[in-house]
Amino acid sequence: MCLANAGGTIQPRCAGCMRLSKNSKTCQTCKSWLNIYAIYVATLYEGIYEQMIRSFKFNVRRQTAIPMAKMLYDVIPSDLPDGIIVSPLPTAPSRIRQRGFDHATLLAKKLVANLSNSKEAPWNGCFRALLGRKTNIRQLGSSRSQRIEQMKNEFFVPNPQQVAGKQILLVDDVMTTGASISAAAKVLKEAGAKRIYATIFAQKT
Ligand SMILES: [Zn+2]
Repeated sequence: MCLANAGGTIQPRCAGCMRLSKNSKTCQTCKSWLNIYAIYVATLYEGIYEQMIRSFKFNVRRQTAIPMAKMLYDVIPSDLPDGIIVSPLPTAPSRIRQRGFDHATLLAKKLVANLSNSKEAPWNGCFRALLGRKTNIRQLGSSRSQRIEQMKNEFFVPNPQQVAGKQILLVDDVMTTGASISAAAKVLKEAGAKRIYATIFAQKT
């Protein structure tokens, strides 16, 4: 049985165009710019979920990562490929300095801790930070493809051997335009990654 999105508050859909999609797979049109095979989104950025993120990131309530990771866990199908690596979408170093912690790394670690407690999950102990991120002074272009190309300059793969031929699940708390995660996926693919999945706590629409 496929458990995709059993625990989310929204129906499975393509995160690029928001059209309903079986197992949260990215549609053909959006795959061309998102570079991601499927994006498992737990909820929308609104109400109590927006408050959870604000409390987590800005009030530094690190324990909020636990219920957030549980919700991510509940929308990720149990039949992801063996050997998939769970990697955070890295936060800009300037933001980490402001907040004192890297929220996406903490979320990804809690997610893996959750998965490791599950007997069904064949992908235990698979946390690895595969991407690095520089802080650039951003002058983002107006078109989506310009923004993605410029965001690509912020990400790098410190160790390409860890990426080559791998399937990777990127983790982040919020997706807005998708430019960051799309750029990160493109950088991983250019380093030889086979297929990129992603999971996002809340999507801004
Ligand atoms: Zn789409």
